[in-house]
Amino acid sequence: MKREYQANHDELTGLANRKLLILRTQEALSEAQQRKQRVGLLLDLDRFKEVNDTLGHPTGDRLLQTVAHRLTHSVRPGDLVARLGGDEFAVLLPQIRDAASAREVAARLRVALAEPMRLDGMDFDLEASVGIALFPNHAPDFELLLQRADVAMYVAKEHRTGVELYAPHKDRNSTARLSLFSELRRALVENELEMFYQPKVNLADRSAVGLEALVRWRHPQRGVLPPEEFVPMVEQSYLMRSFTHEVIEQTLPQIARWWAEGIRLPVAVNLSARELLDPTLPDIVAAGLRRHGVRPEALRLEISERVMVAEAEAITPTILALADLGVPLTLDDFGTGYYTLARLNGLPVEEIKIDESFVRQVADTPDGRLIVGSAIDLVGTLGMRAVAEGVESEHVATTMHALGCYAAQGRHFAPPLEAAAATNWLLEHGKLALPSQERTGSHG
Ligand code: C2E
Ligand code: MG
Ligand code: MG
Repeated sequence: MKREYQANHDELTGLANRKLLILRTQEALSEAQQRKQRVGLLLDLDRFKEVNDTLGHPTGDRLLQTVAHRLTHSVRPGDLVARLGGDEFAVLLPQIRDAASAREVAARLRVALAEPMRLDGMDFDLEASVGIALFPNHAPDFELLLQRADVAMYVAKEHRTGVELYAPHKDRNSTARLSLFSELRRALVENELEMFYQPKVNLADRSAVGLEALVRWRHPQRGVLPPEEFVPMVEQSYLMRSFTHEVIEQTLPQIARWWAEGIRLPVAVNLSARELLDPTLPDIVAAGLRRHGVRPEALRLEISERVMVAEAEAITPTILALADLGVPLTLDDFGTGYYTLARLNGLPVEEIKIDESFVRQVADTPDGRLIVGSAIDLVGTLGMRAVAEGVESEHVATTMHALGCYAAQGRHFAPPLEAAAATNWLLEHGKLALPSQERTGSHG
């Protein structure tokens, strides 16, 4: 008896778990089919992952318990509240009259959660976004019902409407997004994500001084997809942690291999806003470094200027903790977000990457040269180094060097390459400042 209960319930909150939710939904679906009734599934995924993380685990746990309690008391007997994992909850309404009634339940759930929660002497406000999917209107089975509730929830979150009913026709994107989202889940399981590496070159002697790891999605039908086609989606979902894990678990072993082969160059990894808002990120990075025997200087972390502008205060503790690990930090995409370098005051950033849009102006106008030139001067004055991004011609390379950039990245030197091709490039390029005995026999 006890064992069966445990297998079907979430230990922390006592709510039904995914297994029980699937079971109950399937029962409800077959019953509804016979009686021509409707079944509703609400997915109630909100932003409290961040709150949970910021508070620390014991408090986060109590927060989840409070949420569970409030949800359970806002539904009718017969409805099922489940915790799918993390901060993901679902509510099954086995007999719901229509969409309007489902919306009423959703509104009630939101009100219950909106009541401030007092924990450790502090009040917390939780906001929930609820997505609704109905059987048979939106989906014929559990899996699809859950996915469609998820899509609706995403729309609710994006449009800040609080509650959304799944609507394929109303939102042109939702079908595409739905399939992209479920495909992304699959991609993470089937290892379809792959890191490419773009060399960073010293502008004085054109030797390689580092690499940047850039994620790609090797999609079985659509070919190799660039990050802008899926990273924003990852950021909006609970797939973020698995994504970060995947990036780290591919890049760190590669760094370890390169260093073992005598290619001792730092490799930079990009961090998104969502990753930086996760206070456990420094622990994740530290554990990865230990696990793969990579020293902190061999890694570099790039933080986009856009993130610095939008989230400066929220991410500062994480940035400081990352720097404490001894991992050098880079400010990426400089020149895109009106960030003033003076605001870096105190933050341990060693390198500034001048955004490609900024770099391009240099070739075009004298004004552009003046602006970029003085930005680079300031970088130097503040004791940091400037790197040019997206350099596509020798003219731009020479100009950026003359303006004071010490290094550059771009297709003029090399595009992002698969790991093996990057290794060959680094070896063939032949200007690595390596002791020669370390290079023999590494690759042929
Ligand atoms: P970023 O960090 O600013 O990366 C530089 C971008 O410039 C890369 O785009 C790179 O492929 C591209 N690039 C390289 N050479 C040239 C050139 O000669 N001209 C031009 N115009 N562009 C060039 P990519 O690979 O599409 O990455 C886009 C952005 O996605 C990155 O911008 C980064 O912010 C993000 N990203 C990439 N990989 C990851 C990752 O593993 N995790 C996270 N969180 N974000 C990532
Ligand atoms: Mg970058
Ligand atoms: Mg950039």
